[in-house]
Amino acid sequence: AKEMGGRQSVFFDEAMGATVAQRFAIEQALRRALGAQELRLYLQPQTDATGRWRAAEALVRWQHPTQGLVPPAAFVPVAEDCDLIAPLGAWVLEATCAELGRLARAGCRLPIAVNVSPRQFHRPHFVDEVLTALRRHGAEPADLVLEVTEGVVVDDVDAVVERMRALTSEGVRFSIDDFGTGYSSLSYLRRLPIHEIKIDRSFVQDAPRDAGSAALVEAIIAVAERLRLRVVAEGVETPEHAAYFARWPHVLQQGYLHGLPEPAAAVLARWLADECP
Ligand code: C2E
Ligand code: CA
Ligand code: CA
Ligand code: CA
Repeated sequence: AKEMGGRQSVFFDEAMGATVAQRFAIEQALRRALGAQELRLYLQPQTDATGRWRAAEALVRWQHPTQGLVPPAAFVPVAEDCDLIAPLGAWVLEATCAELGRLARAGCRLPIAVNVSPRQFHRPHFVDEVLTALRRHGAEPADLVLEVTEGVVVDDVDAVVERMRALTSEGVRFSIDDFGTGYSSLSYLRRLPIHEIKIDRSFVQDAPRDAGSAALVEAIIAVAERLRLRVVAEGVETPEHAAYFARWPHVLQQGYLHGLPEPAAAVLARWLADECP
């Protein structure tokens, strides 16, 4: 397409490796896409060891008119570098709260986790945005989980804690994403008001066969138990991964084995019909 500088391949390169011109092209196209309602909300289940849904993660996709379904790796990093992460994040929050409101009216509760980028978290009106979206859709704050990475702590931990508390005091919950890949994971566990950690895919996938990864996974789960935090293992792809984590029945599993990310409305309609308690 013309607005992408005539480069059909622009979205197939990892956005991180894109040139300045490609990034600019993506930015222009994304700006248009936000107005054209081209974003889509997908959901992936977080199940217990038996495969039963306990929660879900919201993952954004871009339904591009010519490029097809574009994965977030191709545009979220670009959005983070310009002012587009704000409207993109707001859209995901609205779409998620709309689904949570529908579930609540159907008498069924399923927590949904939303990824929040550091730039979005630090915007002045972030707390208001979240609370307003929940209210507008009649969603239960306790059903909204905000996934942040350690990157959310840029310099002032106390300011981050204060902002998180403004939301947790309303019932919203926080999860630490990609846990174990940052620098100061353990110290943050004690300081941030979180209720869940997600063990990074790299440890999860290596744990069944690699003693070092297994030691890390087991240590993370032991610490989480002591701190009364929930644990999600991400990237559960094989029966071997699932069997490894089944020894901790309270550890939730997320990965292609239990379910691919699918369009939210369709997958929730199916869940309501088949599984809602
Ligand atoms: P993430 O938050 O770590 O999300 C998990 C990613 O792992 C998703 O990729 C998911 O589809 C993928 N995944 C799930 N199960 C498996 C598995 O068994 N094996 C493997 N190899 N991968 C699995 P996805 O949807 O492409 O998203 C990539 C990243 O984009 C996310 O990583 C997140 O950092 C970001 N992202 C996605 N949606 C949003 C959003 O709405 N807002 C923000 N700020 N970032 C988002
Ligand atoms: Ca995530
Ligand atoms: Ca993750
Ligand atoms: Ca990740």
